[in-house]
Amino acid sequence: MKKTLKNFILVIMLVFSFASITSNIFNTSVVVSAKSNVSISAKKLTLLVGKKKRLRIQGTRKKIKWSSSKKSVAIVNAKGTVTAKKEGKATIIAKVGRKKYKCVVTVKRKHTHTYKRTVVAPTCTSEGYDIYTCNCGNTYKSNYIPKINHIEVVDVAIKPTYTQTGLTEGKHCSVCGKVIVEQKIIPRLTPSEASNVECFIVNSYKTWKPGSSYKEYIEYAVDPVAIEKEDMGNDKFKTTITVNLVVLHKTQNAPNTIKGEWLFISDGHTAGGGMYSVSDVEEGEIRQVKFTNYDMTPGNYRVTFSSYFG
Ligand SMILES: [Zn+2]
Ligand SMILES: [Zn+2]
Repeated sequence: MKKTLKNFILVIMLVFSFASITSNIFNTSVVVSAKSNVSISAKKLTLLVGKKKRLRIQGTRKKIKWSSSKKSVAIVNAKGTVTAKKEGKATIIAKVGRKKYKCVVTVKRKHTHTYKRTVVAPTCTSEGYDIYTCNCGNTYKSNYIPKINHIEVVDVAIKPTYTQTGLTEGKHCSVCGKVIVEQKIIPRLTPSEASNVECFIVNSYKTWKPGSSYKEYIEYAVDPVAIEKEDMGNDKFKTTITVNLVVLHKTQNAPNTIKGEWLFISDGHTAGGGMYSVSDVEEGEIRQVKFTNYDMTPGNYRVTFSSYFG
């Protein structure tokens, strides 16, 4: 019956506050919740025989009735002051209206502490100390030693590739895991960075005069000067190779035009190339020539040169 009435009042209160008819309704509910906020100053207490400690009940002005579950161990007076009588445990109860608030009191015998020393070594996260413990539970610490240094472990660098990002070298502590030097992400290599292009050259090349039975020729050397790679977007790059063609020797009736072929080879497959022709050359002359290969996919390339008939 009582519960039903309470619920009924609560419903009325909710209706009123929702309707905002009066703010007093809301204030009333605050008082209700404050009333239930009663507490005891300690739920556990350890006292030596003969010692006193006052317990308090906060949050009420109602009359408090104090009692002890074991008066031989601890007693309590009307003001909540607990007196320890002999070794053991007792529960002190404060009765406020129908509610009970409890504090478990442990009473210990007066004795001279006998401490046992335990050494706690310092780590990189906490200082070291000696801890002294009596079997009554009393402890204290002394002889503090500062924290030790972190144990550094190298996190090896990872080189980036065309498909995966890399990491710079880092350091962390193997004990606590603290990052000492952060590893930074190295971006993926671009197609040109991920690719290797090299020239394969032989001692010398010859452009023969047709029909001369290999007797009339221009002999020249290919001397690579620069290999430039440039990214083109869409996972492609281009390579420009600059070479010096050094005219080593010309026979009497040799042609005066150097002709040859250049090829880009990747994994045994031709991946570009073409013919080159340099006219009006003189013995001892050096001619600079550039070859450009476009639309190259990342990989390892080798450029070869070969002789031709003029
Ligand atoms: Zn002790
Ligand atoms: Zn550490």
